[in-house]
Amino acid sequence: MTAALTVNSARKAFGGLIAVNDVSFEVRRGELLGLIGPNGSGKTTMLNLISGALKPTSGEIMLEGRRISGLPAHAIARQGVARTFQLVRVLPSLDAEQNVMAGAVFGHVRSWGADARKTSRALLDRVGLGARAHMPVSAMTYIDQKRVELARALAANPRILLLDEWLAGLNPSELKIGISLVDELRREGRTIIMVEHVMDAIRSLCDRCVVMSSGRTIAQGGVEETLSDPEVVRAYLGD
Ligand code: ADP
Repeated sequence: MTAALTVNSARKAFGGLIAVNDVSFEVRRGELLGLIGPNGSGKTTMLNLISGALKPTSGEIMLEGRRISGLPAHAIARQGVARTFQLVRVLPSLDAEQNVMAGAVFGHVRSWGADARKTSRALLDRVGLGARAHMPVSAMTYIDQKRVELARALAANPRILLLDEWLAGLNPSELKIGISLVDELRREGRTIIMVEHVMDAIRSLCDRCVVMSSGRTIAQGGVEETLSDPEVVRAYLGD
């Protein structure tokens, strides 16, 4: 079966710095893949290559067998790649419902009307913001803005969802809720790449992991197997 996403020798150089160095991996349909590694190892750059925010210096990226690398970011989003950002990006002057409607209009619901509103309300309920649908996003806490961003990404009904440290900065009770929300998405068969540092989340959610260090993949496979790999342990300890 064709993989949901195939990354084939992707490379990104910023001048002399090779942030992503011939990285290859696949994401199977319905899989939650953890993309992990120490700070500066190239994880966000990798997500930027997939979403088209950056173009690879070389290599290619395929979504369900069709090449997306080289396309502009909006075209890649239209093909079904949605993401959340490490530093949340929402439309601050709009309320939560309007933010999520923007995602729905961009995705399968084409017009700004009742259908988009219905999709938006259902997703806001799902992420626990049903009661705050009409609050301007600028007045929300950071965590709630993250929830809005996730609902907006889901509203586009993506083929693959990229989560960039979506669980970072949550307190223990919020983290529990966040993990169960992502788990629900996984159980309903969504294909997800999760860049994450929270080990509990990685262990409980990921089907497989790809581990990056200094731009390269140093391990990939089952979660326990990769986390106990001596090179991975060394990379995390900075040794
Ligand atoms: P991670 O997400 O794993 O923390 P990043 O992908 O953010 O790592 O960064 C990988 C490397 O690329 C770092 O050394 C970072 O400083 C560098 N880098 C990232 N983006 C840029 C950019 N736009 N210009 C120059 N260097 C960059």
